[in-house]
Order: sequence, then C-alpha cells, then structure tokens
Amino acid sequence: IIEVKNLKKAFGTHEVLTDINFDVHKGEVVSIIGRSGSGKSTLLRNINLLEEPTGGDILFHGKSVLSGDFDLPHYRAAVGMVFQQFNLFNNLTVLQNVVTPQTTVLKRDAASAKTHALELLKQVGMDPFINAKPDQLSGGQKQRVAIARAVAMDPEVLLFDEPTSALDPEMVDDVLNAMKALADTGLTMIVVTHEMQFAKDVSDRVVFMNEGVIAEAGTPAEIFDHPSEVVTQEFLKRYL
Ligand code: ATP
Ligand code: MG
Repeated sequence: IIEVKNLKKAFGTHEVLTDINFDVHKGEVVSIIGRSGSGKSTLLRNINLLEEPTGGDILFHGKSVLSGDFDLPHYRAAVGMVFQQFNLFNNLTVLQNVVTPQTTVLKRDAASAKTHALELLKQVGMDPFINAKPDQLSGGQKQRVAIARAVAMDPEVLLFDEPTSALDPEMVDDVLNAMKALADTGLTMIVVTHEMQFAKDVSDRVVFMNEGVIAEAGTPAEIFDHPSEVVTQEFLKRYL
C-alpha cells in the first residue's frame, strides 16, 4: 500500500531522516522501534503528510503522494493516526466521539454511523462506557475510544505513535490487546512503540531506527532473536 523511497527530512540544517526506504503491504503490521530522538515520530508525520518531506518520495498504491495531481484529501482520509495524547472531544460522549467524525467527514447517515461506532466500541471493550464523557475515563479507556474513532473512519492504513507511552502501566495491556484484535481483523498498521513484547508478538516486520536511518529491518525473529547490527543488539539489551 505504502512505499517510502529515499525519504529525507531536515529542519533547517538538521537532517532528522537521512535516507529511509521501506514498504508496507496490505494487512501487514509493521512496528518501528528505536531510541528517543531517532526520528520515529518524524517518519510517521511525514508518511501522513503532517510534515512535508524534504527529499525522496512516498507512494500510495504506486502513486507519488507528493505529485501535483495526487488526490490529497483521499490520502488523508485513507491514512489514520492514533497519537500518544488521545485528543478526544471532551464535550461529547464516548459514542458521539466515534459517531461525529463519520457523519461530518464521511457524510455517513446517523444510524449507520452509530451501528458502526457501537460495533467498534465493543471490539475495544468500551461498550459499557458509551454515554460517559472523556474526563470520566482513565487514560487507557480514552485511548481505546481514540482507536475506535480512528478505525471508524475506515482507514486503509492506521499509524500509531507510541499509543501506550502516556498510560499508567496497568492500562497498557488493555490498549495493546485492542490493537492486537485490530491487527487480527487484517487492518494495515504502522506502530511506533517501546513495547517490545507487542512488536515481537503482533508485527509481521520490525524496523529499527537509529539516528535517522533504518539500521535494520526484518521479521520479529530476525530482529529480536538474531539482530545482525551492533546498534540493534545494544538497543535491545536494555529491554531484555
Ligand atoms: P521519541 O521516542 O522520544 O518520541 P522519536 O524517535 O519520535 O523520539 P522525533 O520526534 O522524530 O524522534 O525527533 C527526531 C529528531 O528530530 C530530534 O532530534 C528532534 O529534536 C528533531 N525534531 C523533531 N521535530 C522537529 C521540529 N518540528 N523542528 C526541529 N526539530 C525537530
Ligand atoms: Mg516520538
């Protein structure tokens, strides 16, 4: 679905992404791991064009997203994102948070938006809370609502930027389980995470970033059991 080609991103003279190449195929879960500051968030923000790459290209179904005639609104709708901070609408209930973007952005009728929302809230275990307001929920519960909201938009690819790193430890598993359930439905996902067990269990491929480049990429077994690069070995030592 997505091909990242020689992607570069610089802020002024500071080159944050040097030469990034990787593909994501339909139905795959790709985890991106690496030290703080290695460029993981910047990579996601360039993939969904929250930031504009300074070099290279991103292809979506084989077409350059940076070319003048590309259908950007379609692309933005097709690529969803779940952030570390959940950004729910605090004045709306849980159910309304998941229904409203469907009716306003996708012009879905209220009844089918509600049916879809209820199904997804159930899938993430938040169906008992549909009438609650976000400030009555724990961080983990909010994040599961944010995930249901993102999925309700029927993205072709869903990007996650450290979805559990703002959560208390006891909330993390509920969110990871919701993500695992989504992965099992065949949703294409790119997940920046520090949860190595999740990356190992759920990913089809793991990308290890170091100082703005992909130092190593491969299957979870290759990366976690037999990393070939010293930088990968040293990074993983901290998590074992
Ligand atoms: P973390 O694990 O802490 O989230 P990360 O791998 O996501 O780290 P990025 O947030 O992508 O790292 O940052 C990579 C580098 O890019 C850092 O040196 C950061 O200071 C720099 N950077 C990111 N955004 C900007 C910006 N808008 N302007 C200038 N520099 C930036
Ligand atoms: Mg980051």
